[in-house]
Amino acid sequence: MLYDVIIVGAGPAGLTAGIFARARELSTLILEARQAGGQLAVLYPTKSVYDYPGYIAIEAEELGRIFVEHARLSGCELHEGEEVTELKRKGEHWRVGTTKGYYEGRSVVLAMGIGLFESKRLAVPGEDAFEGSGVFYGVKDRREYKGKRILIVGGGDSALEAALQIVVHAAEVFLVHRREQFRAMEKNVDAVARSHIKILMNSEVAQISGDKEVRHVVVYNNTTLEKRTIDVDAIIVQVGFETKSGWLKKWGLEMEGERLIKVKVDMSTSLPGVFACGDIVFYTSKEKRIVTGCGEAVTAIASAYKFVKSPYWA
Ligand SMILES: Cc1cc2nc3c(=O)[nH]c(=O)nc-3n(C[C@H](O)[C@H](O)[C@H](O)COP(=O)(O)OP(=O)(O)OC[C@H]3O[C@@H](n4cnc5c(N)ncnc54)[C@H](O)[C@@H]3O)c2cc1C
Repeated sequence: MLYDVIIVGAGPAGLTAGIFARARELSTLILEARQAGGQLAVLYPTKSVYDYPGYIAIEAEELGRIFVEHARLSGCELHEGEEVTELKRKGEHWRVGTTKGYYEGRSVVLAMGIGLFESKRLAVPGEDAFEGSGVFYGVKDRREYKGKRILIVGGGDSALEAALQIVVHAAEVFLVHRREQFRAMEKNVDAVARSHIKILMNSEVAQISGDKEVRHVVVYNNTTLEKRTIDVDAIIVQVGFETKSGWLKKWGLEMEGERLIKVKVDMSTSLPGVFACGDIVFYTSKEKRIVTGCGEAVTAIASAYKFVKSPYWA
């Protein structure tokens, strides 16, 4: 089958693209490497989202689920567990290769977010040995930390939001950041300052130890070199992501660095008929938020529609 539009990635941007593509009655296939819902489903399911208009507060997993349901009910064909690895021109169309097969589309919308990612690691003694039994790379369910002593590493929004998510349930929460200031939204910095989270700035984890589970973390101050041992039940590392995006470079797109696709205001890329939206795009002043990705998706589909209907649509 030849699709009007093939969307790569089923995060908020890709799913919104699907909803708008179906509103224009374009035949639409969405290909998702993992689980539909994107970062909301995988990275922070139980965190509340407070800045998606229309919801004063909604758990990320629930918001992701609604996006998926909306896309499906709009008539999108959605394949999960199918990673796109190839994008090639075939005559007038695009041939999209995945881990399971090939598809053809008149247009393509790339909405791969931060790509297929792995959390960055601290690379300190004990980290590998305790991964999964006390060392974690995100908060899957904040209720699991009830009554526990937790140490969170990182100074961006992900780390601060992880700390804020669990502080109500946990017995004690430490936040360890290697710089002297957080690199996070003021709203989060203020909330952390008002909470009873114990903040250790200019500090880094040197060692993780325990028995079957994590019991202690050695933290040192990188200005005074003073060391202290903190008793904990778990460590949550939130120091960013490493993206597996090797194949992107082979697709011939104009890129910003190795991970971001340059787009024009109409969300077109350097390849004709290929559009992009969401966290994967680069333009001046790009903000990586759910709502911005959704807005870009609307533009990407309007452009894809004109491309597909050309020359009948000026
Ligand atoms: C901890 C944390 C908290 C956040 N909190 C908020 C918040 O409160 N409010 C807010 O607005 N934003 C928040 N964000 C940012 C927000 O999650 C992102 O901006 C948003 O998810 C981007 O949507 P997207 O669709 O572009 O990408 P993603 O959500 O990353 O979705 C992309 C999808 O593409 C898939 N994919 C990647 N490569 C391929 C491939 N080759 N083939 C097929 N599929 C592929 C991925 O598996 C993924 O499902 C937060 C981010 C983090 C990390």
